[in-house]
Amino acid sequence: MPNLNAQLQQYFGFNEFRGGQREVVEALVGGHSAMAIFPTGSGKSLCYQLAALQLPHLTLVISPLLALMRDQLDFLAKKGIAAAAIDSSQSRDEAQDVMARAKNGELKILMISVERLKNERFRRFIAQVPVSLLVVDEAHCISEWGHNFRPDYLKLPQAKAQLNIPQALLLTATATPTVVADMAAKFAIAPEHITVTGFYRSNLHLHIRPVATQDKHAALLKLLQRTPDAPCVVYVTQQDTAERVANALQAAGLNATAYHAGIENERRQQIQDDFMHGRSLIIVATIAFGMGIDKSNIRQVIHYDLPKSIENYSQEIGRAGRDGEQSLCTLLGNREGLAVLENFVYGDTPELAAIAQVLTRIQSETQNSEWEMTIYDVSAQSNIRQLPLKTLLVYLEIQGLIEPLYSYYSDYRFALNIELDELLGHFKDERQDFVRGIFRNAKFGRSWYQFDFASFQHEFPEQRARAVTALEYMDEKGWLRLEVKQMTEVYRVLNTQFDSATLAAQLHAQFAQKEHSELQRLNQMLALFETTTCLSHTLAAHFGDTQAPTQCGHCLVCRGKPAQLPAADSLAPISNYSAFELTAELRGKAPNASVHVLSCFLCGITLPVLSRVKASKMPQFGQLSAHPFAEVRAWLSEAFAVQ
Ligand SMILES: [Zn+2]
Repeated sequence: MPNLNAQLQQYFGFNEFRGGQREVVEALVGGHSAMAIFPTGSGKSLCYQLAALQLPHLTLVISPLLALMRDQLDFLAKKGIAAAAIDSSQSRDEAQDVMARAKNGELKILMISVERLKNERFRRFIAQVPVSLLVVDEAHCISEWGHNFRPDYLKLPQAKAQLNIPQALLLTATATPTVVADMAAKFAIAPEHITVTGFYRSNLHLHIRPVATQDKHAALLKLLQRTPDAPCVVYVTQQDTAERVANALQAAGLNATAYHAGIENERRQQIQDDFMHGRSLIIVATIAFGMGIDKSNIRQVIHYDLPKSIENYSQEIGRAGRDGEQSLCTLLGNREGLAVLENFVYGDTPELAAIAQVLTRIQSETQNSEWEMTIYDVSAQSNIRQLPLKTLLVYLEIQGLIEPLYSYYSDYRFALNIELDELLGHFKDERQDFVRGIFRNAKFGRSWYQFDFASFQHEFPEQRARAVTALEYMDEKGWLRLEVKQMTEVYRVLNTQFDSATLAAQLHAQFAQKEHSELQRLNQMLALFETTTCLSHTLAAHFGDTQAPTQCGHCLVCRGKPAQLPAADSLAPISNYSAFELTAELRGKAPNASVHVLSCFLCGITLPVLSRVKASKMPQFGQLSAHPFAEVRAWLSEAFAVQ
């Protein structure tokens, strides 16, 4: 074992390891796979960075966010460590340069997004490069039993095996023991190589305040008045709530700003900067806020709505008091938001018939063992939302039925900046004929040409790549403006002789199990907020940290005030409504809508078929959204069964 302390000093300039880092690096240098579950901001990345320097070959890092990659690359560059990334913002030349350096052994660390592995060319390249270690950042995305599951992550264990990568390191800030066990099994990580550092933070005062919805605003104002000049974050579930609450706070004379994914990038960056530099004090945000925010003196984190999961709650309160000073974390709670959270779950479970339709489609559309599809199109046709559709495709990959080959942009349109004759004048002979061919195979609308790949390929077989290059060249020269949309994915179909009904039933059962576990997780979260044992301790224990004191002495339970979350305001019984009347308008536009689709409609859950008929504009959309989905579905099944 090399002298790790000396290495730490030499490369990074640190005198000692932070909690857990040494154990993880030692496991890796000793030739094992490992897992590190450290809270955000406690030095997870250093584990792989130091290990990478000790290992013979490349360390391949799967990172979920471009911004995170850039931060880490900047850090590594400052330390003089050879690292690079391949990302979608690079030109082909830049990416090829990085690949060449990886191949020559010049790079110690290569960072990519998980989507890169779907590209067959990249897979062929990386298969020729000896890789010592596969690092998966935000590794909880691998597990279907945790939050933030990302279908493509499910394939990483297979990728590690196919690429002959001997070791893996999984990094995450939050994972329950169930998720940890799931991840460890998938990567064969021994229990002694799993390092969990403490989740308990003694300076965070956790409170759950039962409040009826109409009293929330007053409760929020009162809380904010306790820390008048300090930075605070207020979390809400939906974008319009963020706007509404921020406006109400401004009206009350507070320095508050809304932040959510619906605000354009540049403005969001500005809001973050203002908050970082103390020009604004209160951010009212959806969960889009926080990635990459490292402000040490946030004094209060307030949950105006229920968080999406215990993991989200833990990460969000974890942004308070990074400086170690006393900070307040308060949830203004009742059960009214529960139906909204449950609806996110129900909307992601595809119907059996929809799954069967996708399978039949694969069988009928496969030509020469290849299936071309766009997510948008298959989602719209099958009425499966995009995320669950991607999950379905990954399930099929894992079953060995399909294999991704490559993807390409299939929708090219362009508008001229100069006269067509002038543009053609820039080319001679055969090249001019070729460019003419491009225009001949493009349909002209009011100002845009829509390129027709099919007719072009008919006239110029095997020249599609050349046409794309020519269009990019003319765009670069400023002769035309090129717009590229709609990714087409190409899969190799390894077997079309499957029984689609049987397979659909099996896949549907898999989705149903996932739905069940997610609903269960929501209930666990409410149970946590109503705990009668110390909340700080119970929360730490939920993440497998048994070191936290049994009584923190300053949470709501330790202060003798455990919470009971009030039920949603009393609802009119569902039997007061007429199922036929409520769904009449929708059935007029979508006569084949199933009970599932009708239930989604009444509960305010969007689906591709509902977007197509603009259902959200109908007055009945979401009319029963405060009722439990299962109740609405049962009621509709009964009403329409007697037809
Ligand atoms: Zn306590």
